[in-house]
Amino acid sequence: MPTFSELGLQDSLLEALSDVGYEEPSPIQAESIPPLMEGRDVIGQAQTGSGKTAAFGLPMLNYVDASEHEVQGLVLTPTRELCIQVTQALRTYGSRKGIDVVAVFGGAPIRTQQAQLRAGGHVVVGTVGRVKDLISRHSLVLHSARFVVLDEADEMLDLGFLEDVEKILSLTPSSRQTALFSATMPKEIRRLADKYLYDPEHVKVQAATLSVDTVEQYGLEVPAKEKAAKLVEVLESERPEQAIVFVRTKIRCDQLFKTLRDKGLSVKALHGDMSQGSRDGVMISFKEGRTPILVATDVAARGLDISSVTHVLNFDVPTSPDVYVHRIGRTGRAGRSGRAITFYEPRQSRELQAIENHAGIKLSPWVKDAHVAPTAVKPSKPRRHSAKPHDDAPAEGTNGRRRNGKVKLRKLIIAGGRADGIEPSDVIHALRVAGDLGGEDVRNVRVLERFSFAEVPDADADRVIGAAADTELGGSKMVVEPART
Ligand code: AMP
Repeated sequence: MPTFSELGLQDSLLEALSDVGYEEPSPIQAESIPPLMEGRDVIGQAQTGSGKTAAFGLPMLNYVDASEHEVQGLVLTPTRELCIQVTQALRTYGSRKGIDVVAVFGGAPIRTQQAQLRAGGHVVVGTVGRVKDLISRHSLVLHSARFVVLDEADEMLDLGFLEDVEKILSLTPSSRQTALFSATMPKEIRRLADKYLYDPEHVKVQAATLSVDTVEQYGLEVPAKEKAAKLVEVLESERPEQAIVFVRTKIRCDQLFKTLRDKGLSVKALHGDMSQGSRDGVMISFKEGRTPILVATDVAARGLDISSVTHVLNFDVPTSPDVYVHRIGRTGRAGRSGRAITFYEPRQSRELQAIENHAGIKLSPWVKDAHVAPTAVKPSKPRRHSAKPHDDAPAEGTNGRRRNGKVKLRKLIIAGGRADGIEPSDVIHALRVAGDLGGEDVRNVRVLERFSFAEVPDADADRVIGAAADTELGGSKMVVEPART
């Protein structure tokens, strides 16, 4: 995979990419940017979520001359939502270069858009109908629009816009460079491409077939703002032995790492901006099982081949089905079963569907606490604290961890609850520290107003109780007793 700078983009664009924390081009970007930078026409078969906006946007912004006050780039979109989304992305990518991007779409006052066009606009992103309207009112002039993109062309076809698209194209210079992006290639779109594109380079991101049947795969719809809190909830419910949480950018990696750490979770971050030394340190700690949760970007996690990873959590939807397959291939190795949970925002349901279609899978909705705890049991740990026999201890010294394949649990009551600002993750963390327990050992945590309940393996319960006084919970010493059941 080339780096962004190897693609020959201007420094101001590279700086903007570094501002948003993209580490490397997504597959569609790596394939589309070089021909577009050479001035060739491109037909890109890619769906939303693949990073296609930057795939055509970066070469377009690279081409645009900020000192020329004319519309030099035009992006046609089928819908208002896509128009706004593309505009925001192009403004971000072009911010350091001082590129003015104007959005024109229906359902909003045309006068405001006319005023914006009079004031400038190096690049115009617009819905087909509104662009046509503004042209007929002489508010939009396309004679210098030499870089033209048709985004989601198949959607334009479905909405019956092809004729208008052709009219608009005929008003742009014949020397223009044209890119057409479409998730599917029906014959009408092919015909359009044949007519309006010159010797185009076809770019298609191939979807790898999913070869990870041992992974149970779930999807979870979460609004952007609630993602971090939901992740904590998922981790509490799933209790992974080891999990990799994938995020799209270095910045998000750092942010999420801090959020989880502040919630008391034992977590480390791994991304490309870290020094090689600290990356190695994190990798080793994860491989040795000392780090249960790793928040990582795709690039940084490449090459991590860890058989003990029980969970892959896609905090951000992957940029392509391939990336999805690559990510979840990290779990379910060596005959073990793994779980992969993909978070998606309501507006990303199409991205998710694209992944499902291309990877030939169907994600089940994730449900809290539906997870049956794995029966695999770790060997008993050395006892650091003398375990006093307890009133509630089982009569016959079974002390056994397994009964009918299940771990025998003991319910504990812990002083402190919501009123003390305690959250389930705090209880899990404190009990794990006290008992030197693994990720899945603390179960069924319930935080009430003044106290909390949790269950731990019976064999570990006395040790947890004995060590509680040496452990902090909510800023004071933890007090734990067996719960009367
Ligand atoms: P798009 O398919 O263009 O709508 O992009 C989908 C999402 O991927 C957007 O949130 C982009 O910010 C993000 N994105 C695009 N390119 C990259 C990249 N190279 N690395 C990380 N994230 C990216």
